[in-house]
Amino acid sequence: MVETVGESKVGQIECIVCGEFYWYPGTPHHETHSVGLPQDYYQYKEYVGEQFGLSENHELLTDDTVINPNKWFDVRDDYPEVEIGLKIR
Ligand SMILES: [Zn+2]
Repeated sequence: MVETVGESKVGQIECIVCGEFYWYPGTPHHETHSVGLPQDYYQYKEYVGEQFGLSENHELLTDDTVINPNKWFDVRDDYPEVEIGLKIR
């Protein structure tokens, strides 16, 4: 029998729109923002790009790195100018 092990979570990542920390602030979270602010993950990525001056093809924006605590943990030291908080648990 093969045992499956869930992905271990390093902690929570900041949503830069509201400044709160979440395990994985995807679209269900962004839908809670006020009108005019990002309402889904795609709008959120655009918002992150605008806030930190990243091109839309920037590697941080090509997948879920900016909402995935584990991925962000792995690359954040490479991008000190991108200030997205992480609470290590
Ligand atoms: Zn938020």
